[in-house]
Amino acid sequence: MEPTLGNPKNTIEIIQKYEFNFLKRFGQNFLIDTHVLDKIIRAANVTKDDVVLEIGPGIGTMTQYLAQAAGLVIAVEIDDRLIPILHETLKDYDNAVIIHDDILKVDIRELAERYHGGRPLKVAANLPYYITTPVIMGLLEKEMPVDNITVMIQKEVAERIQAGPGGKDYGALSLAVQYYAEPYIVANVPPNCFIPRPKVGSAVIRLTRYQKPPVRAQDTELMFRLIRASFQQRRKTLQNGLNNSADISFSRDEIVAAIESIGLSSNVRGETLTLEQFARLADALAGADKKNGDTQVVSCK
Ligand code: SAM
Repeated sequence: MEPTLGNPKNTIEIIQKYEFNFLKRFGQNFLIDTHVLDKIIRAANVTKDDVVLEIGPGIGTMTQYLAQAAGLVIAVEIDDRLIPILHETLKDYDNAVIIHDDILKVDIRELAERYHGGRPLKVAANLPYYITTPVIMGLLEKEMPVDNITVMIQKEVAERIQAGPGGKDYGALSLAVQYYAEPYIVANVPPNCFIPRPKVGSAVIRLTRYQKPPVRAQDTELMFRLIRASFQQRRKTLQNGLNNSADISFSRDEIVAAIESIGLSSNVRGETLTLEQFARLADALAGADKKNGDTQVVSCK
């Protein structure tokens, strides 16, 4: 079944027929460019063996393309006004399931169990931008059964996710995502590919989940606490950033000793450290943490 949507004429026809008005609070910007849709489907590497979770299908544009390529598409849409529209635009696709719900409340593990025997799903979406970070980090951190995420997001956020050490875009989000997945910006997409046009540029990014994280820290939670503290105060030295953070309880001496023990200068800036170096720093400080613990127990007695 060839997709009928993805061009301005048919999109406007559907919108007028149902007297649909776009809601900003749901981040509603619908795709009207077939080239972009083809690119997303190709980048997501969707085959008939795949079950794809689509977040926010809108009027079903990308859903039609996904249904053509995938074994099954599960489309989760929050806006009740779009449900009857989806039933019309997807009526010829018997491999598309429509779920009326908020993606942040959906049990994705249960969906994978029910529709794919517990095997990992692929995720594809033109994401409502207001939930970009909770969706991406929720899928990665909570270890959802998902192996490949291909999503349209704000260009600026895509650049932050893909950034490497030293640049202005590099930060806690880059490291948080890169711990779980390999990011790749597939395409930049201008505002005129959507109706209505968003105020900012967009990009399609693919996140390929690692089987196991590229670095190992003894205490992952401590590593992420160090990462967040290091980027809270940009252009400060790492030792000052960590020393000033309310979330880090090590003394300045312990921080400096840990930084130097991994072969870095005590004046190094946090934004130059790689993920591997943050893991080594966490390991060095985990030793100090243990010593702190011992000291506290002794002094309490
Ligand atoms: N996929 C369509 C397209 O590309 O034309 C629509 C994309 S539009 C950017 C985002 C869609 O996500 C809208 O249909 C919106 O109603 C829906 N949405 C917003 N918040 C949602 C949520 N929390 N859960 C599920 N869908 C949501």
